[in-house]
Amino acid sequence: DPRIAGIAKSIRVIPDFPKPGILFQDITTLLLHTKAFRDTIDLFVERYQGKGISVVAGVEARGFIFGPPIALAIGAKFVPMRKPNKLPGPVIAEEYSLEYGTDKMEMHEGAVEAGEKVLVIDDLIATGGTLGAAIRLLGRVGAHVVECACVIELPELKGRDRLGDTPLFVLVSSA
Ligand code: IMP
Repeated sequence: DPRIAGIAKSIRVIPDFPKPGILFQDITTLLLHTKAFRDTIDLFVERYQGKGISVVAGVEARGFIFGPPIALAIGAKFVPMRKPNKLPGPVIAEEYSLEYGTDKMEMHEGAVEAGEKVLVIDDLIATGGTLGAAIRLLGRVGAHVVECACVIELPELKGRDRLGDTPLFVLVSSA
């Protein structure tokens, strides 16, 4: 798709953020570029509309940027998957491992019902630990994650392999 090149060009890469040795993919420059931002949302909407998806689940924090416009366009609800102790109501939580230690993801109880078809969205997949936790959390309430979608994949980290049978769709692969 000819729109992909413009999206890829609008992503800024910042070396040594948040720590030395990390090459950070910065999507805030994509958001400044109105055509690239619109094309990003349109590509996801074109893929997911009419598929019976009733929930778009966005992973904190940048899944909260891309998820809501997709949810509105396809007529689905938006559900935030948050870092611990942010959500005010009763939650269910799923732990996952990081390079050093563990983290936790939380979702409000009752936000997603058994049998619902869910799209999980985040800005980027690296090791796949974050999206893997989102898939497990949604699976525990009996929902079906149809697909995970990201703007960027870092393919050398093989994050796809941590998503089990759930397909992954990305716009840009970054070496
Ligand atoms: P994973 O769990 O290793 O796949 O890491 C993915 C999570 O870390 C996502 O929520 C991303 O937003 C964040 N992340 C990791 N690396 C980057 C990056 O280079 N740019 C933006 N977000 C990143």
